[in-house]
Amino acid sequence: MIIDCHGHYTTVAKDVQAFRDAQIAGLSRGESPKLPQISDDQIRESVQPQLAFQAARGTDLTIFSPRASSMGHHVGDGAANQQWARLCNDLIHRVCTLYPTNFVGVCQLPQSPGVPPANSAAELERCVQKLGLRGAEIGTHVDANPNFGRVDTLNLDNAALQPVWSAAEELDAAIFVHPWDMLGSERMPKYWLPWLVAMPAETSLAICSMIFGGVFERFPKLRVAFAHGGGAFPFTIGRVDHAFRVRPDVVAAENTTSPRRYLAHDGMPARFYVDSLLHDADALKLLLKLFGADRVAFGSDYPFSLGETHPGQLIESMKIHEKEKEQLFSGTVREFLRL
Ligand SMILES: [Zn+2]
Repeated sequence: MIIDCHGHYTTVAKDVQAFRDAQIAGLSRGESPKLPQISDDQIRESVQPQLAFQAARGTDLTIFSPRASSMGHHVGDGAANQQWARLCNDLIHRVCTLYPTNFVGVCQLPQSPGVPPANSAAELERCVQKLGLRGAEIGTHVDANPNFGRVDTLNLDNAALQPVWSAAEELDAAIFVHPWDMLGSERMPKYWLPWLVAMPAETSLAICSMIFGGVFERFPKLRVAFAHGGGAFPFTIGRVDHAFRVRPDVVAAENTTSPRRYLAHDGMPARFYVDSLLHDADALKLLLKLFGADRVAFGSDYPFSLGETHPGQLIESMKIHEKEKEQLFSGTVREFLRL
């Protein structure tokens, strides 16, 4: 069985994005557009590309998450983003209800500037308990975008996020961390650099923030996965760990557990999960060594061009045991999402 842990609902009916655009445009005037009415037929039509892709590539099941760029943690306000999150999450729920053998859903959270992250806990609870979604996709940070007038960085170690982690733990919900709203993009106007340089940095920032902030220590049952093979983190673990040892005064100020202890060791798999989307066999080999096959899950990032062109081909090409391939293609994500 092949389960794709990294698929986005990019083909929502046009009315949905038109609503969001009008909603954001109307904020300064205090206006709110009417919610779009989307029919089941529109939903069926919207996922035909994904169904065709599944059939062509032999994928049995796709974990369906919102499009990261549309979550908009850095725009809108509390009420607007709550409405937006509910709309998007209800649509994902309806896709999964119409095609229960093809899609399993995760939700987005109404994280937004100036709004207590505790508000996200309620939406996570609604999505897990009422809609049957398996967890949430969140960004690598919340509301830290100077382009939108925000400079108060809220990385994933921020204490304000504790209600979200706590709710995820209690609900047994998985958290998929996906980079967006990339740092330093204002310095990267060319060569698609925000996607090539800043995205992997964002993911490493999220992982380092959670490790050094002691999030995994405080929430021992929390299950978190990071997109794109953990971004820059795996290849810089030596530097990160070295810094932890030589400058504990700054690096280990809040958590005295070595970063390497969060990776596979002494027969134990890593403390958190990553997807396999690396485009390079040597990089995936390193990832498997650092995390263990039990913590690496096949992810395609369909339909984006930075996704794997022939999803699954990299894993297929690896000289590893068939059992290990099976683990990467389905076993890990089953455990991560409790499927
Ligand atoms: Zn993605």
